[in-house]
Amino acid sequence: MPGFEIFDDTEKQQVQEVMEKGFTFRYNFDGMRNDVWKARELEGMICDTLKVKHTHLVSSGTAALSTALTASGIGAGDKVIVPPFTFVASVEAIVLAGAVPIFSEIDKTLTLSPEGILETLKKHQDIKAINFVHMCGSMGKMDEIKAICDQHNIVLLEDACQATGATYKGQALGTIGHVGTLSFDSVKTISCGEGGAVLTNDTTIYDFAHQYSDHGHDHIGMDRGAESHPIMGANYRISEMNAAVGVAQWKKLDRILDTQRRNKKALKDALANYSEVSFRVIPDEAGDNAGFLSIILPTEERTQEVVKALGEQGVAGVFYWYANNWHYLKNWHHIHQMKGAAKLPIDLIADRPDYTQISTPKSDDIMSRTLSMLINLSWSEEQINERIAAFAKVFR
Ligand SMILES: *Cc1c(COP(=O)(O)O)cnc(C)c1O
Repeated sequence: MPGFEIFDDTEKQQVQEVMEKGFTFRYNFDGMRNDVWKARELEGMICDTLKVKHTHLVSSGTAALSTALTASGIGAGDKVIVPPFTFVASVEAIVLAGAVPIFSEIDKTLTLSPEGILETLKKHQDIKAINFVHMCGSMGKMDEIKAICDQHNIVLLEDACQATGATYKGQALGTIGHVGTLSFDSVKTISCGEGGAVLTNDTTIYDFAHQYSDHGHDHIGMDRGAESHPIMGANYRISEMNAAVGVAQWKKLDRILDTQRRNKKALKDALANYSEVSFRVIPDEAGDNAGFLSIILPTEERTQEVVKALGEQGVAGVFYWYANNWHYLKNWHHIHQMKGAAKLPIDLIADRPDYTQISTPKSDDIMSRTLSMLINLSWSEEQINERIAAFAKVFR
């Protein structure tokens, strides 16, 4: 997954151009910047590649989630479905928006299941949005998910922070629903150091997104500060230096995807020889970003054994999400307690769920048996063969 593995002179040259010719701020300063507009340039590139009408860059994937929620009308007291297997930012963004996270089950796609969502809709008729997270580079059953959202008038937000460049039936993940997000943090498929993007084909959502992420400025005209402020907002702007890194990285997206897909295929073909190994379900295999290879084993005990054995064989980059505290509900004690630095908007909601009592047994069953292996870009053929040899010692 990590684009940082192939940083070279092109990223440096891009940043240097900002420092020598351009200006650090993404808006205005037309007289000083010699027509260097890195954030705009990267937004244009993303729109072209992903075939989406609007891209708005922000300072992180987390900022993109906050921006996407508010720009699509999700705020105080609104209920938002979220998976128990995700990065904590998915939940934090909902809580910080004043909204209420409602956990639904995942299936073997490792993303929210249509059955789980329908189950939740029976209990909560007033769901406003789904934060659908495309975990580990791949997608869920998007036709069914989208049909449910359309039928129930629910905002479909696609968190594609881990799935840049992935597609479902030819459509880029993050562009299928009403609004989508990407992350360009230091360990993602494309890295700007820190950065993120909001994707949408809806011009109203786009306008709220660029306004909200810059104190409500409407960005009309060339006189910074003299624009109108239709709404209040925050500062989630990306800097021109970060966007410049992204311009160089985005040009490598095809190369990154090709390499990941080739490396992943070699490992997956090798693992297919072991009867105890099954694979994460990928509804459109051709569209997988291939940043991870996720396998599902028969039992929790066997999975723990395999994690240990892979470690002993020196196989790095193996994630047992069920046991780590960043990616699975079971270990998010601060979220069970809804613990903020200060009182949270959700504390004012009398009938909010008791998060110490939330359970997602179907997801527990799958995640307790799931391992993901990071696919690196820099592996030599020899290193891949070493991994395959290690698999032979570990799997049955
Ligand atoms: C990384 C990530 C985020 C947050 O992105 P940042 O740029 O690190 O803020 C959100 N959701 C998912 C699924 C992620 O993997």
